[in-house]
Amino acid sequence: MFLNQNCFKMHEIAERLQRLSASQTLAMAQKSRELKASGIDVINLCIGEPDFNTPDHIKEAAKKAIDDNFSFYSPVQGYDDLIQAVCAKLKRENNLNYKPENICVSNGAKQCIANVILSLVNYDDEVIIPTPYWVSYIELVKLARGINVLVEAGIDQDFKVTPEQIEKAITPRTKLFLFSSPSNPTGAAYTKEELKAIAEVFARHEQVLIISDEIYEHINFNGAHESIAQFDFIKDRVILINGVSKGYAMTGWRIGYVAAPLWIIKALIKLQGQYTSGPSSIAQKASVAALNTDYSLLKGMRDKFHERRDLVVKLMNEIPGLRCNVPDGAFYVFPEASHYFHKTNGTSMIKNDDDLAMYLLNKAHVAVMGGTAFGAPGYIRLSYATSEENLIEAMKRIKSALSLLR
Ligand code: PMP
Ligand code: GLU
Repeated sequence: MFLNQNCFKMHEIAERLQRLSASQTLAMAQKSRELKASGIDVINLCIGEPDFNTPDHIKEAAKKAIDDNFSFYSPVQGYDDLIQAVCAKLKRENNLNYKPENICVSNGAKQCIANVILSLVNYDDEVIIPTPYWVSYIELVKLARGINVLVEAGIDQDFKVTPEQIEKAITPRTKLFLFSSPSNPTGAAYTKEELKAIAEVFARHEQVLIISDEIYEHINFNGAHESIAQFDFIKDRVILINGVSKGYAMTGWRIGYVAAPLWIIKALIKLQGQYTSGPSSIAQKASVAALNTDYSLLKGMRDKFHERRDLVVKLMNEIPGLRCNVPDGAFYVFPEASHYFHKTNGTSMIKNDDDLAMYLLNKAHVAVMGGTAFGAPGYIRLSYATSEENLIEAMKRIKSALSLLR
């Protein structure tokens, strides 16, 4: 008998999963789909994914891959031509030199981040996360039994943490710093100067590795994307995450990649080899076509997001009580909404941002996310990755529902 009867619980999920919360963005999206299916005209601003179709030449590459019988397991690390395309893209668009051995391809940027965290974080290791953060970061750290150290940056500092704040949060147990720029949920993007000042902090703390989530790279309205990996004095500690989901309108294809030092890539391949194997062969071939595209040909999508950002910020500023900054990129606005807390329309009392999101879903039939899911109570997140027509209608409904709160 090798089971300890005191610990063994019949028919119960493992403790590691009991620690984990379900993805709130995906849960809200599901709720909004269900309402829509029941005949209610819900406008979904709660999920962050481009509303554009994948460009035709990328779809053609996938069809060709099927015809050419790319139906076998790929190498765990990813196909050679995709890895070459990633290296060429990093050189061409970011002026970053990575060798093929420094790349690992996975099922979306989400799996890349999960692989890195599970490969690096030990029990009680600390991970510093600028807050507001993307929902999955803290859950994956919890899964690895690490400790989330949240460094807060609200709307008054344009949702960007300062080097001083980061330095104060670093301890001898700090293993990772994990951030996205442009950011989900705020759209804030760090400038080159800001990134350099942050990199200089890490230069003084050699134990810290940096996960730079650059999935929104191409949706940046302030000019060229800046990566923290450009600073040679810390590059051997930077783990760059990117993928095709957002910039190429390919969320469902599930391809992301990591560029990192070899010792980390070896660990990712070991984990992935036991866990999922290499990602879909067809999606990888489509991603070769995506990454080899001159991005100026696809920038129509970014321009559309830019127009929508301006539209939403303008309409948002016409709603009393919502305080909204101007996001630099991604496709979210993150207004401060606490003005509406402790108000009621006679039937619903709004105590917090989740109540407000629920009120807007039920009353205005607009699905948004409460800021608490991103570590920022008091805010709400709206995705503007939908048509201008939907955005105008949604903002009209939100304005009218909020005007009923006293
Ligand atoms: N990082 C951030 C900041 C995101 O918003 C997303 C989108 N859900 C991801 C990573 C994951 O992207 P992917 O679809 O490539 O898994
Ligand atoms: N990044 C998107 C969002 O935040 C997709 C949902 C998810 O993967 O959690 O809405």
